[in-house]
Amino acid sequence: MSAYQQPDASGHFGPYGGSFASETLTHALHELRAAYARYQNDPEFQAEFRHELAHFVGRPSPVYHAARTSRELGGAQIYLKREDLNHTGAHKINNVIGQAMLARRMGKPRIIAETGAGQHGVATATICARYGLECVVYMGAEDVKRQSPNVYRMKLLGATVVPVESGSRTLKDALNEAMRDWVANVDHTFYIIGTVAGPHPYPMMVRDFQSVIGQECLTQMPGLLAEQGIAAEQPDVVVACVGGGSNAMGIFHPYIDRTATRLIGVEAAGQGLDSGKHSASLQRGSSGVLHGNRTFILQDENGQITETHSISAGLDYPGVGPEHAWLQEIGRAEYVGITDQEALDAFHHLCRTEGIIPALESSHAVAYALKLAPTMAPTQSILVNLSGRGDKDIGTVADLSGVDFYDRPSLRGHTVKGGRE
Ligand SMILES: *Cc1c(COP(=O)(O)O)cnc(C)c1O
Repeated sequence: MSAYQQPDASGHFGPYGGSFASETLTHALHELRAAYARYQNDPEFQAEFRHELAHFVGRPSPVYHAARTSRELGGAQIYLKREDLNHTGAHKINNVIGQAMLARRMGKPRIIAETGAGQHGVATATICARYGLECVVYMGAEDVKRQSPNVYRMKLLGATVVPVESGSRTLKDALNEAMRDWVANVDHTFYIIGTVAGPHPYPMMVRDFQSVIGQECLTQMPGLLAEQGIAAEQPDVVVACVGGGSNAMGIFHPYIDRTATRLIGVEAAGQGLDSGKHSASLQRGSSGVLHGNRTFILQDENGQITETHSISAGLDYPGVGPEHAWLQEIGRAEYVGITDQEALDAFHHLCRTEGIIPALESSHAVAYALKLAPTMAPTQSILVNLSGRGDKDIGTVADLSGVDFYDRPSLRGHTVKGGRE
């Protein structure tokens, strides 16, 4: 039994978390909490979840020793938990499968989700196709324009993508629209949230589904460390990037009781933590209520959410999961910032030195490991959660490098049969 038992029965992690939602959603949230409580420890549910993860996602994902990088830096051994190898290219699918399985058991044939960069939308559309569920994804109209490959992916998978034209036409507007839909259609609709945010039980439930990442590491690390002649069974440090915080909670949670392992979350410092252009809610934010829970948010004196910035769309969120606010407060986890430039440098480093193209989000975690490793001994180790692959980001990187890889005259003017709208 773990000594760390969070959240409490009302979904609080200390002063954070809880459930701030309109009265119309009280019943839906109550119903969801009851369903999750029922299936959380149900052997049949858990067995099906494991089966899905093994056969559809491809778990367990390997842990890879970045030997060349470690040798070059001359410090701690760096290991990468390869969530980038999952089906759909990131950790998000783990959580989406769990929630879709709950939706089926609750008799809800219609799924809604909101997405910023489109990664959560793609994962949701994927599982809806697999289970034959209706799928509606809300996306800010600005993001629809910026993320057209992911919009097309969702459409190929049979989802309806609804561009949201209100407000700044980005993620927070899509969130409001998804909430509105849920209120109106709650009897037959399940709302799949993509990170450890939202009202209770979402932060706990998403963490639990993602904890498979850290659980696998607990069994994978002893053998890998022994191969390098390292006496410790577990890494000295675990590092993960933090947007909403789900990949970080997934790898942190099984390590919380193992206090010999430092837990470090990496926020997007954008153009610098003091530039006003970043997404570092834990380091530069303050306590407030956002998306149904109390947490750290980026807000001005009047409590208005401020504009966020990051090179990686997946980290560009003005809040953070409430459990991270709590782990920071009790000192169990530390949170640091990595700038756009540092993330980009780490992206190129991993491409050239290890043959792995990482997501720009994950590149933030890699960048911090590259900084930390030289300050440690070669007999120590750092485990990085490589949350996703970088295929989706090569356009961004090419733009920043002034490269136009779509300029392929030889392919222009050709059409093929079989296109479908
Ligand atoms: C969405 C995303 C993130 C950020 O979300 P978290 O909830 O903080 O994990 C990080 N990495 C990748 C690859 C993502 O797609």
